[in-house]
Amino acid sequence: MWQQTLAQPLTFSGIGLHLGRPVKVTISPAAANHGLRFVRADLPGRPEILAHYSKVVDTLRATTLGEGRVTLSTVEHLLAALRGAGVDNARIAVEGPEVPIMDGSAAPFAQLLAETGLRTLPSPRAYLRVQRPVELQQGDRWMRVVPGEPRITYSIDFSHPLIRRQRYTVPLWSEAFEKEIAPARTFGFLKEVQYLQTKGLALGGSLDNAVVLDDSEVLNPGGFRFPEECVRHKILDAMGDLALLGLTLWGRLEVSRGSHELHYQFLQHLMEQEAAWRIWVPSPPTPEQQPAWFQPTLWEGLPA
Ligand SMILES: [Zn+2]
Repeated sequence: MWQQTLAQPLTFSGIGLHLGRPVKVTISPAAANHGLRFVRADLPGRPEILAHYSKVVDTLRATTLGEGRVTLSTVEHLLAALRGAGVDNARIAVEGPEVPIMDGSAAPFAQLLAETGLRTLPSPRAYLRVQRPVELQQGDRWMRVVPGEPRITYSIDFSHPLIRRQRYTVPLWSEAFEKEIAPARTFGFLKEVQYLQTKGLALGGSLDNAVVLDDSEVLNPGGFRFPEECVRHKILDAMGDLALLGLTLWGRLEVSRGSHELHYQFLQHLMEQEAAWRIWVPSPPTPEQQPAWFQPTLWEGLPA
């Protein structure tokens, strides 16, 4: 109900997937209504990029944000971890053009956030509450949201014998994220990885940061972390992309064979359907629930 930020700054570093070079990241607490903002800390003037769908400049294989000529790629797993932990406001200073891939999941980020702890801010969280169904179909892919308690159901269908059809449902903005979704790693096919590397891409890609499949097997020694790790990772990607709404979605989301491009197109489509949702701030707390700093005026001026 209240907005949150980190209790204190946290720093980590890791290899960027595409360039294969180490990148340092510092996430700092921010005030209420600041939102999630990236800073390219390696560039002169430290340019800022708001984590918002209007800043998406590329969705091929990862979500890339940009402001003018400055870009930052692979933002989705870190954004999913931040929103999954309930962080509304933070400054994320990245010393390079991409967020480190870590182990290909959001678990390392989720763990760092859990160790750092969160702080409640004296301002209510606003939700985008869905009132009517909104759907976007692109060929055999579709994404829709209907009114209801926040949750996501995702389905995928790959011709690979170890993936095939997978479907998974999880409540959104709940503790389920850390256990069920954050550890699911990104996945790729050996042929694709080899092709990308001939093009100078995915240079940091290895079995340490992705599940890699050949025609019949998982090449990683430990295999999958969950039988349906692939679809769980798609939920992770979708939650990262959903963070770009800038508001917390309140509705039942369903995605079939989605991609970063579909997630992004859907956010645009949803925001255009203004009659289908409203900005909703849950009722003020009762006197017993009120923290010491509570001021009823925090609710005034917010759209009902
Ligand atoms: Zn991903």
